[in-house]
Amino acid sequence: MSGQELGSGVCPKCKSEDLDYGNGYVEDESYYYEFTCNNCEASSKEWYNLTYSETLLNEEVGKWRNYKCGGYVKNDNKRI
Ligand SMILES: [Zn+2]
Repeated sequence: MSGQELGSGVCPKCKSEDLDYGNGYVEDESYYYEFTCNNCEASSKEWYNLTYSETLLNEEVGKWRNYKCGGYVKNDNKRI
């Protein structure tokens, strides 16, 4: 990692990883977490891009059909 890059979980100001995460919010196509640095008390937001994954149709209770993959998936585990 070069010194200029900043990943998630790091304070942008002091580079501390001792962060206190607050609530997360959805805004348009993005999602962000608010956090406060426990080291320098800077407040920041961490943004994530939301990307489309899949659409499931609830045909019966506990029976979700994934038309993209053409199969059924269980309610508790929507990934195929
Ligand atoms: Zn900090």
